[in-house]
Amino acid sequence: MPETTINQPAPPGFDAVPVSGSAETAPAGAAAVDGALTGAPDLTGNRLVCLYVSSRAGGLAIDANLNPDERCNFNCAYCDVDRSQLSREPVVDVARLAAELRAMLALVHSDRMQEQAGFQNLPLELRRLRLVALSGDGEPTLSPVFCEAVETVVHVRALGGWPFFKLVLLTNASALDQPRVQRGLRHFTRQDEIWAKLDAGTQAFFERINRAPDTLAHILRNILRVAKERPVVIQSLFARMRGQNPPAHEVLEYVARLQELQAAGAQISSVQIYSANQATPNSECTHLSLAALSGIARQVREGTGLQVTVH
Ligand code: SF4
Repeated sequence: MPETTINQPAPPGFDAVPVSGSAETAPAGAAAVDGALTGAPDLTGNRLVCLYVSSRAGGLAIDANLNPDERCNFNCAYCDVDRSQLSREPVVDVARLAAELRAMLALVHSDRMQEQAGFQNLPLELRRLRLVALSGDGEPTLSPVFCEAVETVVHVRALGGWPFFKLVLLTNASALDQPRVQRGLRHFTRQDEIWAKLDAGTQAFFERINRAPDTLAHILRNILRVAKERPVVIQSLFARMRGQNPPAHEVLEYVARLQELQAAGAQISSVQIYSANQATPNSECTHLSLAALSGIARQVREGTGLQVTVH
């Protein structure tokens, strides 16, 4: 589903339409950008913070890019970050992150939002700020300053004087067992959320779609670990690969992994099913039809009883 930025493309895991930020900031990855509200003139210098209209968020979402250096330990077949050239962006400057976030929050809660191109065309329910996402042009938990970045955003939330916003960590779940990531997550409140990527139900398909030097078993263990402590949202991308829909048996295995997570005590608040929506450096992956996505969603609902949304 579509989203809109006030300044950038969407982060991995977001179906977003930019409303603001800077052209160089644009977090990418699995996101789908549906259209821009154009740039907020006073925020075009942003490098770390963008504003989106996000269908998955159900309204406005601010993205905090923790990976301007594009670092990721996955190499998803559908990723729209082109890593063929080394990024020269440094790791996150948390002082800059705080300043850009404050400025964006000030914009969102001001009358100036009305001046953003495209904003007035949005349905009323999409004009509300729904969340601040910890995301990036790579895997946010790999940032060497992940814990500091979380502390910074939580600090801005506590002292900024704006209405409460929830934090959402968009993650491939590979580092959720690392102590420094656990330390950062201790700052999350009960309202904050983790949206964890799960694109496969077998190791073979995991290797084909996520192409990571990791194992599906490890990813599942990490999801279970955090989902025993707090409800998680599962984000699952299904694409056509080399012109083929995901094999039926792989979808069955994927549903079986969700069932196993539930049986082991994972709290899963919802499952988001979506597809590759924007051009990626890897032409092997293309968009999967809404009918096919809806079919997978139906299998998940019937197999697990979970709330499932298609984007
Ligand atoms: S996990 Fe990494 S490689 Fe995969 S979509 Fe996200 S940023 Fe791209």
